[in-house]
Amino acid sequence: MMECQICVGCGTKSPETDTNYTLISAQHGWRLHRVRAPDGAFSAEWRFPACWRKFKEANALPDSSGGAGARESARTVFARASRRLRGEDSEPPRGR
Ligand SMILES: [Zn+2]
Repeated sequence: MMECQICVGCGTKSPETDTNYTLISAQHGWRLHRVRAPDGAFSAEWRFPACWRKFKEANALPDSSGGAGARESARTVFARASRRLRGEDSEPPRGR
């Protein structure tokens, strides 16, 4: 039976393979990441090789010697936070 998976990162459909092992193999290079849901059930996340690399980088702790990248992302987070604060300010006051 042929199976195919969907990349959780970009929605790319995997090539059809006989088994998932074929997909993980060097031939295709897809990666399976198991996540445990709050209810204890396991679910599988499939990633296209390029998306797996991005996922790994995104989950890596910011390296203090890395410099610009970490600083830029911190600035992005700050900008988003302050924008959110402004948004909340412009909302009409609730209650009474
Ligand atoms: Zn992808």
